Amino acid sequence: MPVAGYTDLMESLGQSGCPICRLVTRDATRFMDSLLYENVLDLEIMARFRGRRGLCNTHGWQLTTFPGQQLGVALLFQAALHEVMGQVGQSQNAVSRNLSGRFLGRTDARGAAMADNLNPQAPCMVCEKVAETESRFLKVLVEQLADARLYAAFQASEGLCLPHFREALRVAVAPDQFDRLRELQMGIWEHLMDELRELVRKNDYRFANEPRGREMESWRRAVARMVGEKGVFGDDR
Ligand SMILES: [Zn+2]
Ligand SMILES: [Zn+2]
Repeated sequence: MPVAGYTDLMESLGQSGCPICRLVTRDATRFMDSLLYENVLDLEIMARFRGRRGLCNTHGWQLTTFPGQQLGVALLFQAALHEVMGQVGQSQNAVSRNLSGRFLGRTDARGAAMADNLNPQAPCMVCEKVAETESRFLKVLVEQLADARLYAAFQASEGLCLPHFREALRVAVAPDQFDRLRELQMGIWEHLMDELRELVRKNDYRFANEPRGREMESWRRAVARMVGEKGVFGDDR
């Protein structure tokens, strides 16, 4: 019986891109789906949504890409709008009660105070979900590096993106875990470096007639390996 998460991880390692980015995207998508279609009536969820004044930029826009999303997005962001209007209206009332000319001719600090009140009071819920998924699967990955099947699957994969490699290094506290992780990732990077060299070489007109293969797409993979897959990391991270 494999440990929890092992099968998901093996499946993810068999596909393109960073395996952790892929699992994070899957879980974030599921979470946003439930946010849109099930949780709009959950008071605690709505309170956290209002506290964040919605979601971070990345996840806010991702929410608009779900099919049939209009009603869910409208209800969620109506609550966020209601919250910020409440904040702005409230401070306006408080200020007008105290308006006795004290502000005249002086620096008006009301704007800064209002801006502070509008700051997010809670983290983006999807960013939180992302962090939870990352740590859960990175732990399984690092702990299972001694497993021959997982090791081979990692070796044949595109490896971790740099942000997730950094996280994995922090988890790999046993000497053999660190050694295996480093060796695997370096092997994958060396292969990518070879592909990039080929791409650069074939951009020279003298070699323009040589057959072109997978290396011609390596520039895009290099971006993904360094910054993570597109849209994986929210702004609250
Ligand atoms: Zn990643
Ligand atoms: Zn976010």
